[in-house]
Amino acid sequence: MAKELYNLAEQPPLGVVPPKMHAWLIRPERFGTPTEAFQQEVVDVPPIADDEVLVYVMAAGINYNNVWAGLGIPVNVIGSRNKAFAKGEQGEPEPFHIGGSDASGIVYKVGKDVTNVKVGDEVVMHCGQYSRDCEWVKSGGDPMYSPTYRIWGYETNWGSFAQFTKVQAQQCMPKPKHMTWEEASAYTLVAATAWRMLHGWGVNAVKKGDVVLIWGGAGGLGSMAIQIAKAAGAIPIAIVSGEDKFDYCMKLGAKGCINRNEFDHWGMLPHWKDNAGYAKWLKGVRAFGAKIWDVLGEKRAPNIIFEHPGETTIPTSIFVCDTGGMVVVCAGTTGYNATVDLRYLWMRQKRLQGSHFANTEQSNQMNELAVSGLLDPCLSRAFPYTDIPHVHQLMYENKHPHGNMAVLVGAREFGLGASGKAPVAIVHPTLPKGDVHTTPRPYPLSAPLPSIAEAEAITIADDGTRVKDLMHRGIIACAPADTVGQVAKIMVDNEIHAVVVMDGGKAVGVVSQTDMVLARQGRTPEQARAMRASDVMTPGCATCDAGILLSEAVSLMTGRRMHRLVVTENGQPTGVISMTDVVRKIIGE
Ligand code: NAP
Repeated sequence: MAKELYNLAEQPPLGVVPPKMHAWLIRPERFGTPTEAFQQEVVDVPPIADDEVLVYVMAAGINYNNVWAGLGIPVNVIGSRNKAFAKGEQGEPEPFHIGGSDASGIVYKVGKDVTNVKVGDEVVMHCGQYSRDCEWVKSGGDPMYSPTYRIWGYETNWGSFAQFTKVQAQQCMPKPKHMTWEEASAYTLVAATAWRMLHGWGVNAVKKGDVVLIWGGAGGLGSMAIQIAKAAGAIPIAIVSGEDKFDYCMKLGAKGCINRNEFDHWGMLPHWKDNAGYAKWLKGVRAFGAKIWDVLGEKRAPNIIFEHPGETTIPTSIFVCDTGGMVVVCAGTTGYNATVDLRYLWMRQKRLQGSHFANTEQSNQMNELAVSGLLDPCLSRAFPYTDIPHVHQLMYENKHPHGNMAVLVGAREFGLGASGKAPVAIVHPTLPKGDVHTTPRPYPLSAPLPSIAEAEAITIADDGTRVKDLMHRGIIACAPADTVGQVAKIMVDNEIHAVVVMDGGKAVGVVSQTDMVLARQGRTPEQARAMRASDVMTPGCATCDAGILLSEAVSLMTGRRMHRLVVTENGQPTGVISMTDVVRKIIGE
């Protein structure tokens, strides 16, 4: 007969499931920093469906998602699930969230359709859930593309920060016998993601001899990517932010390492018309490319670039990638606006491929590598159960070490759970002493796409101001054949930032201050002055109707990174609205 509730250190007899369990819960009423958001509570053990499994959690892996879940941004995961449930869609009714998307543990109960595991099996779990009834999945489609796909313990409830977790049977994989509970709980999410990125993309899948450039080689994903690339016979090159991490990456299997702090060409691409800026960027990125050759010992471009920093590194990744090669990206840690010089993409026929977590088959392929001993979990630190808020707080404050972290749940002490030797022994590298992250916190693993975010979007109160209330009437214009010298005079005399180019009553382009400055590059002032407006203008003209809301005009400008719009009435240009006007109004001059 099961007790009502077992203490954490007291493992229930195998297969005995008590009605209640200890868990760390996030509730909407305490959304905030991790130490506020997480609280220990006792809740009912959840019932399982026919294709589900109840696992007694021995240890749980940590990742950034539950920092976001606790903050309640960018998505209130509890509210979204509750709303979906109320509408009869795929959701969950509980008014709380139990996070945790990585775990090791023991199977305690199985649904009647489960055949791949039985009570008593020691397992690790991947975090991909999907409905077996989804038509796409039933027809043999990759479950990663199913609309029912969810990340367990972030997009779903009943994650691993509890004595029992509810998972789908297909999530369960054999625990590597040579690993402790905490080691086994730490690698699956990052390693399976890295596996799909490297093995999942057809002709560009990693193969023997490929050069693979890996961002963040000492990080969670990067440390797995180095090992997976090496196991495939490829040549990993790791990029890190300091030489103190070189040894770690080399021990994992990197052929060489690059310190990204030796370069400063990061960030969005300069404008392609900006000769001087582009030339400087090219110099930086070429030096970076030369460094790759240097550490590689031969003049070869990487076949695969393993990307996740995103905004600041994508231009470099696309540039250094080999002809026909692939930049594969699973995150935008530094931002989502990746700029791409399309000339390199199409002329050299490179592929920019998005990738998200992994399907069941890929997770199992990855796990075979772990079971065989060829994948070190790169556990940097393990914590006791009581530290779940603290370890998330460390991540929130960016004070956590590189590598992967875990917490004990059912395991009574650190170092338990290994029941055999690894078939293959590899070096177990350690990170530099005192190592902590120096970079900002990543956005959630599952970034809310606008359609999801809409449900929780912040409502902006609009005061109803229309463009016509604020616009400047009349258009200061020039003709296409006017010289740049004439246009510059109009600009300076009127103290404006752009001149509209009118041709036969139609606005055909805009000469902005930026166009002027770019026209001067590589030319004498006389040569620049003699050019025609039509040669330097940005063709086309961004317009808005005088009747639209000012807030809509702001969205048009921010979306196109512009500072002004030509205003039309009855289809005819009649004035201009600029960001300066908006600033004046909203700051209250
Ligand atoms: P991590 O352990 O924090 O490692 C990321 C590494 O990136 C850092 O160690 C850092 O290494 C490097 N980095 C940070 N800022 C950089 C910059 N500006 N330029 C170049 N490198 C930079 O994180 P992770 O677990 O590897 O995850 C990385 C990202 O992938 C996160 O955004 C995470 O949410 C996402 N992710 C996505 C999926 C998915 O399925 N879509 C799965 C797992 C993770 P150095 O400072 O040494 O360079």
